[in-house]
Amino acid sequence: MSEIRLYNTLTNRLEPLSPVHPGEVRIYTCGPTVYASAHIGNFRTFVFQDILRRFLRSQGYRVMQVMNVTDVDDRIIHSATAAGIGIREYTERYIQAFLEDIDALRIEGPEELVRATDHIEDMVVLIEKLQQKGLTYNSDGSIYFRISKFPEYGKLSKIDLSGIQPGARVDVDQYDKENARDFALWKAPKPGEHFWETRIGPGRPGWHIECSAMSMKYLGDTLDIHTGGVDLAFPHHENEIAQSEAATGKPFVRMWLHAEHLIIDGQKMSKSLGNIYTLRDLFAKGHRPSTIRFLLLCVPYRRQLNFTEDGLTQSRNSVERLRNFVARLKAEQFPAGSNPEVQKLIERAENDFDAGLANDLNTAVALASIFDFVRDANTAMDRRAFLQQDAPRAMAAMEKFDTVLALLADNDDEMLGKLGFTPQEPRMPVAQIETLIEERQAAKKARDFKRADEIRQKLADSGILLEDTKDGAVRWKYK
Ligand code: AMP
Ligand code: ZN
Repeated sequence: MSEIRLYNTLTNRLEPLSPVHPGEVRIYTCGPTVYASAHIGNFRTFVFQDILRRFLRSQGYRVMQVMNVTDVDDRIIHSATAAGIGIREYTERYIQAFLEDIDALRIEGPEELVRATDHIEDMVVLIEKLQQKGLTYNSDGSIYFRISKFPEYGKLSKIDLSGIQPGARVDVDQYDKENARDFALWKAPKPGEHFWETRIGPGRPGWHIECSAMSMKYLGDTLDIHTGGVDLAFPHHENEIAQSEAATGKPFVRMWLHAEHLIIDGQKMSKSLGNIYTLRDLFAKGHRPSTIRFLLLCVPYRRQLNFTEDGLTQSRNSVERLRNFVARLKAEQFPAGSNPEVQKLIERAENDFDAGLANDLNTAVALASIFDFVRDANTAMDRRAFLQQDAPRAMAAMEKFDTVLALLADNDDEMLGKLGFTPQEPRMPVAQIETLIEERQAAKKARDFKRADEIRQKLADSGILLEDTKDGAVRWKYK
């Protein structure tokens, strides 16, 4: 098992992972705000978290990941009121869409997906605790956290606190990035708005308190890893630290991991800038789920990911290359024996793959190790130096890589169909291709060249190219 090192935003350093409970990693992930469909920028961050959990599991850790769904905030309340329906009803369809989207992207679901509105009581209890410690004040029916009472405020985002004005407070959840202010734990109801009647008064929770309450409820007072996009470090995560540590007196999170943004035309993709693509926008344009997954994971999470058409094309080709290699491994007849040189290639790929990911989830290094291996193994096959007993080992390595990458299973068309999209280029299933190739071989053997040519043409019309090798075996690939 390689030592896993991750970049901790709290210390600005790479640090070895050392979970509170040996063998188990407890992760909290800020999930979607369900007032609209998530965009692929959001999914960049969710795919990074998926790579994290899949890699930890591949290294033998148990993972307990909790993800929240923010199903109450200003935008949700306004939109639900405008639509004349309750917030549960309003958010339900976006939660369902989110679940379908993560399924399409092969993102493993978290162990617990929890809704803010199911945890109002937990939030009230936490706010009461902060009240008892004298860390809050009331104003116009809302309750605020007094940040000057938490001396470590700013330790995550390293925000400059020199200009801080005592008593300056803010009601909106996402506020001025430069300015630290007292923030709302509990918001007084506005006329006509949805609210909860509770021991701390009528109202609704602020955004930050939901993550503190739910993460500690399911994962304990000190979590191993907390993740989100970089935009969440301040104020959201800074405020989570203040509330949680002030309440428990214990460190809230050992490691904070933040994913850089997906950008488009030099700008962050975001709903407020109006430059978004949802997954379904891309499916409608004919892009496949596996292409998008590849694109989102191929750039290491701490580097910005520039979203381009060209990137989509390259990603599609990369996935094809991997799938073609696996198809070749399965279909080709290799000469008997095993080649120690090939064994070495396999071992090197396995080691480099794990070492790349163990080094702060460097997916670029991990992918390079696989593509180098695929290239070298293909060359060895062409030279007939790749032998029969090398195939199952190579296959096992590809399968092991795929427990983290999740790119090999060829079910894109099925997934698109399930979501109501017609794949633009429906592809012939592998089993059918193989049957046709066998038929063609039989036709050739029977010297029925007309039939053999017909089959070759039929495959070509479906975008499948055949290559007859010297020893009579047939290789195929998608065009
Ligand atoms: P939201 O639904 O806005 O609360 O965001 C859900 C997650 O997506 C959060 O972790 C955000 O930090 C993250 N996020 C938002 N925009 C982007 C982007 N353009 N690139 C990467 N992650 C993003
Ligand atoms: Zn959160």
